[in-house]
Amino acid sequence: MNLKYRKTIIAGNWKMNKTLSETKAFAEAIKPMMGKHKWCEVVLCVPAVNIPGAVKAFKDTRVAIGGENCHYEASGAFTGEVTVEMLKEVGAKYVIIGHSERRQYYNETDITVNKKTHAALAAGLRPIVCVGESLEQREMGVTEELIAYQVKMALSGLNEGQVRRVVIAYEPIWAIGTGKTATAQQAGEVCAHIRAIIRKEYGARVARAVTIQYGGSMNAKNAAELLAQPDIDGGLIGGASLKPEDFTTIINAANQD
Ligand code: PEP
Repeated sequence: MNLKYRKTIIAGNWKMNKTLSETKAFAEAIKPMMGKHKWCEVVLCVPAVNIPGAVKAFKDTRVAIGGENCHYEASGAFTGEVTVEMLKEVGAKYVIIGHSERRQYYNETDITVNKKTHAALAAGLRPIVCVGESLEQREMGVTEELIAYQVKMALSGLNEGQVRRVVIAYEPIWAIGTGKTATAQQAGEVCAHIRAIIRKEYGARVARAVTIQYGGSMNAKNAAELLAQPDIDGGLIGGASLKPEDFTTIINAANQD
């Protein structure tokens, strides 16, 4: 983390979990456990149907609500999809884009990730753009090239001001939901690499302002070590964000002010 130049963002990704009543119960459970978090933003990305209820349930907290996906078109015949304006109007502030599960199961590509990133920013939402390599790719030694390609594709066509608002989540696919966390050094190296790519493309001032998260089995035990890496500015957290105690332990690990 580097609190001088950028905010730490701890974001939960609830995926296809929790009904509205479970969302309300979670909000009540974490309220007394959360410390003040001036330099750490807290986000929960929840199923689209529960966004309005989540916004209401977390109203008295500093937890912002986000979507887990969006379409890049403004409207049209795309059964089952939601637009960025729909997310915005019901109170979402963030949206996850290009999660590896969307890339794997729903044909998300680097092109659609780029289009969605443009759409989210145009609507005033902060995109959390996920990038990451598979185990095979890591073992073949192409992690750096692959991440550079994914980052450049996601940010293509954005101006400097827009890039500053993008959150990049480095999520090695082999670490998501598997209990296998990247070591702090592995995660820190790739996050530093992402910052170097942004520095080369957009300059040092933009690069040091961008929040880069690590995601992949981050939990209450390993969060502090991962967050101590200078280029890891938060986490995108799946499983551990479903448990109030674990999620607040991670938030409080990021609360260094
Ligand atoms: C995720 O879904 O983005 C994720 C990192 O999941 P988990 O923390 O469960 O590995």
